[in-house]
Amino acid sequence: MSKTISINAGSSSLKWQLYLMPEEKVLAKGLLERIGLKDSISTVKFDGRSEKQVLDIEDHTQAVKILLDDLKRFNIIESYDEITGVGHRVVAGGEYFKDSALVDEEVIQKVEELSLLAPLHNPANAAGIRAFREILPDITSVVVFDTSFHTTMPEKAYRYPIPTKYYTENKVRKYGAHGTSHEYVAKEAAKVLGRPIEELKLITCHIGNGASITAVDKGVSVDTSMGFTPLGGVMMGTRTGDIDPAIIPYLMQYTDDFNTPEDISRVLNRESGLLGVSEKSSDMRDIHEAMRAGDAKAQLANDIFVDRIQKYIGQYLAVLNGADAIIFTAGIGENSVTIRRLVVEGISWFGCNVDPEKNVYGAEGVISSPDAKVKVLVIPTDEELVIARDVERFKNQ
Ligand code: ADP
Repeated sequence: MSKTISINAGSSSLKWQLYLMPEEKVLAKGLLERIGLKDSISTVKFDGRSEKQVLDIEDHTQAVKILLDDLKRFNIIESYDEITGVGHRVVAGGEYFKDSALVDEEVIQKVEELSLLAPLHNPANAAGIRAFREILPDITSVVVFDTSFHTTMPEKAYRYPIPTKYYTENKVRKYGAHGTSHEYVAKEAAKVLGRPIEELKLITCHIGNGASITAVDKGVSVDTSMGFTPLGGVMMGTRTGDIDPAIIPYLMQYTDDFNTPEDISRVLNRESGLLGVSEKSSDMRDIHEAMRAGDAKAQLANDIFVDRIQKYIGQYLAVLNGADAIIFTAGIGENSVTIRRLVVEGISWFGCNVDPEKNVYGAEGVISSPDAKVKVLVIPTDEELVIARDVERFKNQ
């Protein structure tokens, strides 16, 4: 019996979950926020308790020290020796990392080099990895990439029709994201359907604040909606998803909002999506509440959101030449009965439906009727567990 921590480090945050492995039991989880700022917050949840403290956390190394101290302070562990593994989520693995990898200096340097592809995320991920290496140098340390599940995409799917030199020299291609989630829910769906994944064509819809849809053929990703960065694909909380690229030079010329690459990135990544259209909120619960109160902008935000998901499902029905199941997961996919109903009802011609008695809050598993040609499922995602399992895989090698 050993304990493994999965780590998701952001630029100013560090989310963690401690597992007893191989039992896969969650012993505790927590979040350190506002790292590098004043009044940082550390929250630890365990045994039905939630403990919060406000303190100044300078950097990721200090955050890791605080988290490890908290584990002892709350008697979640007696000594650090009990922790035998750590798994780090890394956003961009580029073309280099086709699978998770054991951490060494070369791997960390590669993660840092790949910051060009994820400037907000990879440096933070690398800081988290270095912090653990400094404090617990001897445990099994593994990096798990958001992109590696998508490295199986064929070239026709991952290349953009732009001059080849931008691919060869600048590495501009589709990388996708949310790979651990798509892989996990695809495997879980195969179990629920009682069929080997090698026989199945699946469309996995990870619909949260960030959202992406993947075509999974025989267990491997053959196409995914997010692109070179997580900005592409379907509409999201604050991100545009796909738009005509000509909009950018046009707005650069005719408005004052698009003067620098940072401006463009901010508007498209943080001020668009549900928030941009509704002018109210990026949160689907707020959108639906406003919609019920008759807010036309919120209604439109909802309608575009549903439309883009339907179109991507349609694309992937074409890419896969049919599908056995559509799977909903993440914050909206798992919780919004309305979004699932609207998406599926509008594409019922393909042979899918939702049974109103099964499509309820808290639903898990199949929510379509027994005669549906394309089954519809809700599978709660668990990216932390995928990371912890990967650590086990490397421990046992
Ligand atoms: P992130 O990409 O930040 O991990 P999540 O997967 O947590 O995002 O999803 C957040 C989204 O899930 C928000 O838009 C939130 O409104 C939505 N959500 C959560 N619960 C519900 C619910 N009961 N009904 C509708 N939407 C919900």
